[in-house]
Amino acid sequence: MERVRNKNQHYDAWLHWNLSSQCNFDCDYCFGKTTPNVSTINSIDIENLLKTLGKTGKIFRISFTGGEPFLIPNIISACETIAKVHYVSFNTNLVLDRVKEFAERINPARVLNIHASLHYDELMSKNLFGKYYDNYHLLKENAFNIYTEAVAYPLDIEKITHLKTKMNSLGIPFTYAPYYGSYNNKFYPLPYSDGEISAFNLNKNHIAAYSQKGAICNAGFNAAVVSPRGNVLTCFSVNERLGNIYNDFAFKETPTICPAKKCGCPLNFYDSYLYRKLDDKTVFTQS
Ligand code: SF4
Ligand code: SF4
Repeated sequence: MERVRNKNQHYDAWLHWNLSSQCNFDCDYCFGKTTPNVSTINSIDIENLLKTLGKTGKIFRISFTGGEPFLIPNIISACETIAKVHYVSFNTNLVLDRVKEFAERINPARVLNIHASLHYDELMSKNLFGKYYDNYHLLKENAFNIYTEAVAYPLDIEKITHLKTKMNSLGIPFTYAPYYGSYNNKFYPLPYSDGEISAFNLNKNHIAAYSQKGAICNAGFNAAVVSPRGNVLTCFSVNERLGNIYNDFAFKETPTICPAKKCGCPLNFYDSYLYRKLDDKTVFTQS
């Protein structure tokens, strides 16, 4: 099984939605969170969202990220409605009570994956490890495609063995994903040493994906990102506006030649299923 999807799950396009930068955690290595504030967090306008998606005639993967997407007050009803036609997926720290509700109300066949980020220091300092454990196993038992990743923060290299042993013994195997950001005056992930790559067991293709200037990317073609206010953009680095999720948007006729030196969210790498749908002939005769 691919991590992104099961073989029988098919979709035409992907919207990666940063619902809000608000988060209930405060990880040292985080580059984008703000403190939760219930009075300012937006709900999803489910009716207009579904209308906009319907107008495109496509089946979508809507992936929810943030911040913490389960902070959104109506996230469960939004998923219930979206999942009647489309697919959803999540990047989550997995500790909010809404995760349990999600497991009970949403059909796992319409959920491509749940990327359960393992932020061990925060789980321990907030006394939430038990919640993470319970929610992970609840989703697993209910047939959701859930997998766990931790951030390969260079400072944490000494903790790898302890964490691997503990998580394996609890039935939650995990891998490390490259850290994207500054550490010791260096901008990761490119400066990882061979020793760090080996210790964290990092994939070199994954590291290279964060720096793709000049490469072909399906960003804007069959994948795009969405801002908290619903603006649809080519990707988080190329801020070309394609429309709004509550009104109208349209993908471009051709994919993007990546103009960015750095990319924190390489859409062509994170959804290889859609990237493989690029037809090079179509792409270059149209450009
Ligand atoms: S859980 Fe994610 S969004 Fe929240 S503080 Fe940690 S890294 Fe940032
Ligand atoms: S910055 Fe990333 S997502 Fe955007 S075009 Fe380049 S590789 Fe693709």
